[in-house]
Amino acid sequence: MASKDIQRKREEELDNLLRVEQGGRMKRELQERSRRHNMELLQTLNHQASKLIKQKDDQLQQANQKNMELQANVNTVQTEVDAWKNRAMAGRAIVHNLHNEVEKATKKKEKKGEGSSSKKMESSVGSNDHVVDPARACKVCTIRETCMILMPCRHMCCCRPCAHAVKLCPICGAANRQGLHVAMD
Ligand SMILES: [Zn+2]
Ligand SMILES: [Zn+2]
Repeated sequence: MASKDIQRKREEELDNLLRVEQGGRMKRELQERSRRHNMELLQTLNHQASKLIKQKDDQLQQANQKNMELQANVNTVQTEVDAWKNRAMAGRAIVHNLHNEVEKATKKKEKKGEGSSSKKMESSVGSNDHVVDPARACKVCTIRETCMILMPCRHMCCCRPCAHAVKLCPICGAANRQGLHVAMD
């Protein structure tokens, strides 16, 4: 009787031990699973994050590329503008030189004597027999031939006396500072 009780008690104790043991194992198993799940989740998140970062990096690189292209365009335009400025300055220098040359030539001719040799410079002045082409006639007096470039607007529209007389360009109305004589062949 007593030994039976003892055995039963032992079996009960063993059962309890096993139950505790099983509970512990299950707990560990669950913890392990949860740990693995968390790891996977973390890995997925990491992957997504690095993907996003790479996308942003690519976009940034594209933006930088665009920026560089635009900067290159700006530089090209600036170079063109500079080239045009240089050309304009060269043109102004040429006009200035021509002006001086013409003035020198005119002075020489005036010294040589009036009347005989100034025919070429002022071919149509006062010559009633010569009919001026309306397209080349002075816009002010319409009698003499145009031979002056008004400055600074550069309209070629007056004969010499009118170019000296007019205060405003008859074409654009700009103030006429100094006329520039142009030798007509
Ligand atoms: Zn005139
Ligand atoms: Zn003008």
